[in-house]
Amino acid sequence: MVSETSVKKRKIPADEHYNEEHHATSKDGLAHPNKAHNTVRTHEEEEKLKTTEEGSWRNNPPYRTHDENETCEKKHTAQCKCGRIKYWLSREKPLASKFCHCKDCQSLHGAPFQWAAVFEKNDLHFENGAKGLAFYSSEKNHTHHDLPCKVSCSYCHAPILDEGRNMVLIFPAIIKFVSPEAKKAFDPTMHIFYSRRVVDIKDGKPKWSELDKQSELIKDVD
Ligand SMILES: [Zn+2]
Ligand SMILES: [Zn+2]
Repeated sequence: MVSETSVKKRKIPADEHYNEEHHATSKDGLAHPNKAHNTVRTHEEEEKLKTTEEGSWRNNPPYRTHDENETCEKKHTAQCKCGRIKYWLSREKPLASKFCHCKDCQSLHGAPFQWAAVFEKNDLHFENGAKGLAFYSSEKNHTHHDLPCKVSCSYCHAPILDEGRNMVLIFPAIIKFVSPEAKKAFDPTMHIFYSRRVVDIKDGKPKWSELDKQSELIKDVD
């Protein structure tokens, strides 16, 4: 009988990619935040990379550029702190918006918790494609584009998004909202990994101890 115990790949249920990809590798504080790797390339180098097999992802959403940017609907515009990375969202409202209190988010964002909004890759359009972006795989601890991975500006290091296999989690703090209503669409509806919190938040929103719908709800303290 042939043994099938060799390299078993982690299975990701299609409807749970957000949770799985963002958190399956969280070992509570075991992230290695060496994302400050510089990947500044010339335009020519960037174009050449697209033609290699390893670089083909650069032609796919959310990194494909120019032609699509002319025609895509620009519902929201975002820019990193230094202004080198700019993107547009062609969808008004995220599929979900959450506060995450996990240790990876705390250590990689340098913040008590993180605000993330889920979009399809097709909804996101970078002005310059993958140019100027830095990648970090916390699962494998290297700085290549390898899903799931964290994406930041290679110059100012502002976190831009987490890219999963099917979806992206963008960090809305850098979106230039044109109105209070536009921002309202990004209102987080829940807290996740609340058991790892560094601060209590009494906002009446559901608080999951770990992943939403897969863990215990924690009550607000009076
Ligand atoms: Zn920047
Ligand atoms: Zn998190």
